Amino acid sequence: MCGIVGAIAERNVVNILLEGLKRLEYRGYDSAGVALVDADQKLHRVRRIGKVQELQNALAESPLKGSIGIAHTRWATHGGVTDKNAHPHFSSEQIAVVHNGIIENYQSLREILRSDGYDFQSETDTETIAHTIHKEMKQAESLLDAVCKSVKQFHGAYGTVVMDKNDPETLVVARSGSPLVIGLGIGENFIASDQLALLPVTRRFIFLEEGDVAEITRTSVRILDKNGEEVERQIHDSEIEHDAGDKAGYRHYMLKEIYEQPIVVRNALQGRLNSEGLLPGIYGDDADMILQKVRHVQIVACGTSYHAGMTARYWLEQYANVSCNVEIASEFRYRKSFVHDNSLLITISQSGETADTLAALRLAKELGYMSSLTVCNVPGSSLVRESDLSFMTKAGAEIGVASTKAFTTQLTALLMLTLKLGQCNGMSKEQANAIVNALNTLPAKLEATLNLDKEIGQLAEEFADKHHALFLGRGDQYPIAMEGALKLKEISYIHAEAYASGELKHGPLALIDDEMPVIVVAPNNELLEKLKSNVEEVRARGGIMYVFADKDANFESDATMRVINIPHVDEIVAPIVYTLPLQLLSYYVAVIKGTDVDQPRNLAKSVTVE
Ligand code: GLU
Repeated sequence: MCGIVGAIAERNVVNILLEGLKRLEYRGYDSAGVALVDADQKLHRVRRIGKVQELQNALAESPLKGSIGIAHTRWATHGGVTDKNAHPHFSSEQIAVVHNGIIENYQSLREILRSDGYDFQSETDTETIAHTIHKEMKQAESLLDAVCKSVKQFHGAYGTVVMDKNDPETLVVARSGSPLVIGLGIGENFIASDQLALLPVTRRFIFLEEGDVAEITRTSVRILDKNGEEVERQIHDSEIEHDAGDKAGYRHYMLKEIYEQPIVVRNALQGRLNSEGLLPGIYGDDADMILQKVRHVQIVACGTSYHAGMTARYWLEQYANVSCNVEIASEFRYRKSFVHDNSLLITISQSGETADTLAALRLAKELGYMSSLTVCNVPGSSLVRESDLSFMTKAGAEIGVASTKAFTTQLTALLMLTLKLGQCNGMSKEQANAIVNALNTLPAKLEATLNLDKEIGQLAEEFADKHHALFLGRGDQYPIAMEGALKLKEISYIHAEAYASGELKHGPLALIDDEMPVIVVAPNNELLEKLKSNVEEVRARGGIMYVFADKDANFESDATMRVINIPHVDEIVAPIVYTLPLQLLSYYVAVIKGTDVDQPRNLAKSVTVE
């Protein structure tokens, strides 16, 4: 889930490891630690609960030096948040291990290892990795050999890096389910769970594949695939353009990312759409042949990406005349679902490493889907590599745990896909032009909407002391209401629910009183009159409302209703535009409440465990 960094060099690697951990902080974590082997072949370790800064302070007080080391930020899954449970974990003061993921059979491994005489110092599943490898070392030819024998015994997901104090020339790494990338230096090499961690030291990377085990020295990299065969993997030059470590003067990454949306949406459109329509070849060489045949779309995603998928369902069925289902990946992967003829599976994920979504893609291959397409923000990620087609959202690195620009670029990508599938399916020229025009004017509309910043900042004052909030929307704004509620929950810790406004009288109306603010997203579309009736239902029960509405929708502010006018936009792109004021609202409520906006409690950025 969180961060792994490892380094082997001639120089002292402590600062490389700490800088790497800092760059991975955005993923959310609860403790951090580092282990090094020094020049006298002694193993040292420092671990602290809390922020990487605590670890850095501890290391400033008693500095460590070593040219080989591993470091970790932990997002606890097994065992509480304590110094003892923080990684790295040791076996017999010889083997040191960091691990992302979950070893599902850790209980049975623990019993076996205990009977072999191993003592457990932590409550984690990870410690079983350290002891298993130590046990295998007794008969193995090398650390690599011991790791290969050990991983066969692990069920679950892991990205792990192993160090042996008796062999301070070698790091061994293994990947199954949790991403790992090797960074290539000159006379030094690195490993991390995300290339972002290593950008200060290299831009050349090898992405490990499922089941890979690799042996890394200062000057060599040897990779064995899942069958134990030695393989060459391609070296990629990092495509990450800007240094994501920079807040560019904004108080939080989240605010910076909210403000980047007009630019990144423009990037997402550039080279793909002009004033005439979609440019040829943007989905890759064989794509047109596949997309022509699509008669059904199954979208699978989690969290914010799921909301993007839900919005796309409205678009695909309304404009592209293609039937569409949307499902949360963790549900899809564990139930028997029906596969329609000529079905395209679409996965949506910011990181491209979301464990449940990746598992859903693999399942879909077994189930016989015609083809798969991923809408993703990270080139070279597992979803991109394993899908038949990929469409990059080009949002740039997203650091805030609560997704903002990744969501609006996903929506932009999905609307382009709606246009593409619609055109494969007899969409009228007028309809196609309407979508093309709406998309081309979108960046300017987003820019104009950001002007509401101040007004929304003031509005946020009224939410900061509330414990609950209700979000309402209809049609393609219903998923936007869901996303608004999710944002508020994630960063301000206020309990928020979203309802399709027609559902109000089927239950949630019972909750309405002046302590429960109701947020309504109300663009000027054909459902406006229906929505106005829902607003009256709330008003009649003494509810306090905040209505984000097109200025032509004729809502008037009064004692129980505050209206925030949104620039007039084409209804096709309204879901994308109306997302922004809801993001700003959550952001400012969180700032007033003083929460950790970029790293909200208990959450992680890239959810690489189930
Ligand atoms: N399951 C491990 C633990 O709880 C690793 C968690 C992580 O991915 O950070 O320690």
